[in-house]
Order: sequence, then C-alpha cells, then structure tokens
Amino acid sequence: MNKPDILIVGAGINGLVAANYLQRSGCSVTMVERAERVGGACVSAVAIVNGQTQHYALGATVLGLMQDFVFEETGLSSRLQTFVPQHPKFVHFPGDDEPAWIYRNPVELDRELANKWGEKGAVEAFRTDEARVVSFLQDGYINATPPSIDEAKRLLGDTLTELWISGTAKALMDHYFTSQRSKIYMAMTVTESGPVSLSDPYSAFTLPLMDSGSIFGGYYGFVKGGIWQITEELGKINAELGVKTHLSSKLVSVNTANGSALYEKAGSERKLDYDYLIMATDPLTATRLVGDTEQISKTEGQRFLGSSGKLNLMFRRPVRWKHGSDASVSDAAFRFMFSVSNIDEYEAATLKVLDTSIDYVPGYLQIYCEGAAMRQLNHSEPFDRLSVFFKNLSLSQSGADLADVESQLKEQLMGYIENPGDCVWTRLLTPRDLQQLFHFPGGNLDHTMLTGGQTFFDRTYADDPATNFYRFGDLENVYLCGSGTYPCGSVAGTPGYMCSQQLLRHAGLL
Ligand SMILES: Cc1cc2nc3c(=O)[nH]c(=O)nc-3n(C[C@H](O)[C@H](O)[C@H](O)COP(=O)(O)OP(=O)(O)OC[C@H]3O[C@@H](n4cnc5c(N)ncnc54)[C@H](O)[C@@H]3O)c2cc1C
Repeated sequence: MNKPDILIVGAGINGLVAANYLQRSGCSVTMVERAERVGGACVSAVAIVNGQTQHYALGATVLGLMQDFVFEETGLSSRLQTFVPQHPKFVHFPGDDEPAWIYRNPVELDRELANKWGEKGAVEAFRTDEARVVSFLQDGYINATPPSIDEAKRLLGDTLTELWISGTAKALMDHYFTSQRSKIYMAMTVTESGPVSLSDPYSAFTLPLMDSGSIFGGYYGFVKGGIWQITEELGKINAELGVKTHLSSKLVSVNTANGSALYEKAGSERKLDYDYLIMATDPLTATRLVGDTEQISKTEGQRFLGSSGKLNLMFRRPVRWKHGSDASVSDAAFRFMFSVSNIDEYEAATLKVLDTSIDYVPGYLQIYCEGAAMRQLNHSEPFDRLSVFFKNLSLSQSGADLADVESQLKEQLMGYIENPGDCVWTRLLTPRDLQQLFHFPGGNLDHTMLTGGQTFFDRTYADDPATNFYRFGDLENVYLCGSGTYPCGSVAGTPGYMCSQQLLRHAGLL
C-alpha cells in the first residue's frame, strides 16, 4: 500500500498522537470528532467570575505519564513551557499537627517517614525496585511492544514480577512498609481509576504504571496556560502536517467489509472510505460500532465504574497555606489530605461507593495548585486556582445536586488555608458528570477500571494480541487505542503512539 488512508475516530490525546505519528510517516489521516473542538477529556472550561473570564481544566489537570520522546517527536516540546514542582509534597493525616514532607531523595524520605510516621521499613529499596520495573515498562512503550508476564519474569525475575506486577497492592505495601500511613500514601494511586481493592490481583501494578512517565522522570507537572494546551497545540501541529479533522461529526456506523464509515454532521450523514480505521474512543463506543454481538456483550461485561471527583476553585487573591516552607515555590507543591489513617478504613471507604445509594465516602484529596504553578511560569491570570481530585464518589448524583458534599470538601480543604474568604467560585464534578461530559462509561477516567483482568496484557481487544495488540478482534485493518487499552488513561497518548507503530509495521511502513 502506497499512502494508506487512515480514519481516526476521536480527537482526544490518543487519537491526536496516533494521527501525528501516522501523518508524519506518510499516511493520509482524517479524523472525525463528535465534539466541536479537539481534546476529549483534556480541555478547558470558562468561568465568568465578577465579570472576569478565567479558564480552568475541566478534566485532566497535571501532566506526567507522557513519554519524553512523544513530547519531542510530536513537536509539542518546542511550543509549550512546563513547570514541575521540585518542592517536597505535603501529606496530612487526621490528627497530625504537621504534614509529612515527601522528599524526592530516598534517604531524606526514609528519615522523614521514620520521624513523622514511625516507618521502619525499606523506603529506599521500594524506590530502587520500582525504578527497575518502570524502566522495563518504558522500554516496552518505546518499542511499542506491550509486555508479557514471561518477559517480565525473564528481565525482572520472579520476585519483582510477583510483587510489582501480578501481586496485590496490599502484599506490596506489607513487603516494604511497616506504618499504616506509608502504606496508605503509597497505595493511593491504585484506587485512582475506581473502587479497586488493594487485595485485587494485579493491583500492585498500578503503582509502577502511574510512575512510568518519562517527560518529568516519573513526576507530575503543569503546562503554561493549562494542560489543554497539549491537545489544542497538537491539533494545530497536526493540521499543519496535513491531517484533516471533521469536528461536530459523530461516527454512526462502520462497514468493515468494504472499509467505509458514516458520520453525522449538522443533521446529514456523510461517508468516508478508509484503508485503516482507528477507534480512539472508549472501548464500549468502539465495540458497539465495529464489534459483533459477542464482542459487545463481552465489553459490556467489563468493570467500568469510576469513583473520582473533581472540585475546581478560584480565589481572588493567592491561596495562603497554613503549612509550607520558606521557599517561594512551596505554594506550588502538591498536597494530599487523608480522611482515614489506617489501611482497613481506607479499603472500606474505597469500596463502599459500589453501593450507589451512598453518594460520598471521604477518602483523600489531592490538591493541584494550578494558579501557583502558573505564577512560576509567568502566566498572569485574574484568579488563583486550585484543582482538587478526590475520593470516593458513587455514580449516583451530579455535582450540582451534591451541595452537602461540596460543603464537606470545602470545610476540610479550608482548614489548611489562611484566607478561605478569598474563595469566590467552585464547581464540583462527579463520575456521573464525567459520564455525561466526556462519555466515559461508568464515569471512569481510564475508560475502564485498572483492576484484575483489565490491566497489563488484558488491556487489548485483539483476537491475537501477540501478533498485533491494538487490532480490534480479527479485523485486519481496524485498531483500538483509547485509554481503555494498554497502558491506561492519561494525557500521555502512549496507547495512541504504540498503536500507530503497530499499524505502520503492519502496513510495511516501518
Ligand atoms: C476529571 C478528570 C481528571 C483527570 N486528571 C488527569 C490528570 O490530571 N492527568 C492525566 O494525565 N490524566 C487525567 N485524566 C485522564 C485523562 O484525561 C484521560 O485518560 C485522557 O484524556 C483520555 O484520552 P483519550 O484520547 O483516550 O480519550 P478521550 O479524551 O475520551 O477522547 C475520545 C474522543 O472520542 C470522541 N468520540 C467518542 N465517540 C465518538 C463518535 N462516535 N464519533 C466521533 N467521536 C467520538 C470523544 O468526543 C472524545 O473527544 C483525568 C480525567 C478526568 C475526567
């Protein structure tokens, strides 16, 4: 095939990254996106506060899981400025007078956790072993080869593979740590995608996975203006490369036998022919459009439920934290506030929201100080803004109907702030809102839960994943690369990159 016509459905980060690599490799790429702009879950919204306009991150907020080579090769690195807080993170547990500082240096961290939390375990070994697993994962990303357990065992050995990949997060924590606080803090990411038990097989794997970004060496940071600059800018770069994008265009049917698809735009249906089709959507949408009855029912049987909420806040003057340091960058540090102090309570709170008659069970708040980060980037804005990512919400209600939950969250947060009276605007989003806003099944920000049977080599929809992991079923020329595929959801585009490379190999262009 000389110059294959590629049709990509969905212009979120994964569709955009795939489009970028394929167009630069000589393919002719067309995208259809149901929304009126590109970005998917990585977009901004606007708040008008006291007559002034302020943009904020509607979905994703922080950048970290992206691979450094994707940031560079797509052209993003030469157009965007970033900031990564270097200051230690602050972690508050109930009843503690002072937060623990999460130092980057393992020796300093070891000392701090011993002092503050009575930790007697192997903090340094935890970081060293994790780094080996992360490096294994990163090699797989760059080579576009999703890993297998056999390969993990060959390169990492049986013990690390069992501890960090196929094992439970509980066993992993018990292996390295003695204090309840360390275990809760370190295991926090396991529940980011939904009500996942720390005793689920493969739940350990979410830890190295979430630290496997290489753009900031496994850390998280901010983009000047806001994270949505990533997708907006990539959309522009792609257009300059020649990618054609149809916005407000919803794909409604696919004829896989003759390689054509119909999309709906402004009330009329239009047809597009393709050599390859890439579904860069959630797996449920993709399967319903290209799957057979059996594939649809299998996908519908997956675990989708999300349990993360987001509270955006604006302050008319910069937030003044009660706890910090003398360093001027301390107000941009990440902050974590837990509502539970032992692992059993943590687990119970995580799983309670499987019962949709319960709206909210306090777990933790992660505070992203976006406004302070923008000041570090010399980006002037009318308001200071905080983005609070928190646990645990059920799928029962929209944020607009949970005024009591919003008050509870604000009360907890404002307890750490000197100037709560400066808060002039808030907006609460729940999993139900994420389902409606972004069409995420079950309101899950990873498109599916990162849990046993849905992580690692299971995040594929191919009949023969060993041959071509991102192919859909047994269809030669249909691929799937949304966040529901390996490795997971985030503003990284790793599935989009890996899928593009596998497609290029199949087409003989690599
Ligand atoms: C509240 C929240 C906070 C988050 N925080 C972070 C964070 O801080 N950092 C981070 O890295 N990640 C974060 N995430 C996760 C991250 O935003 C997502 O995993 C990622 O953006 C998903 O990208 P995607 O391209 O796979 O899918 P999506 O962004 O879901 O894109 C899929 C696209 O397909 C389109 N589409 C669907 N069906 C059709 C159709 N029939 N026809 C045409 N188009 C269609 C959709 O409109 C959408 O634009 C967060 C997500 C949420 C919701």
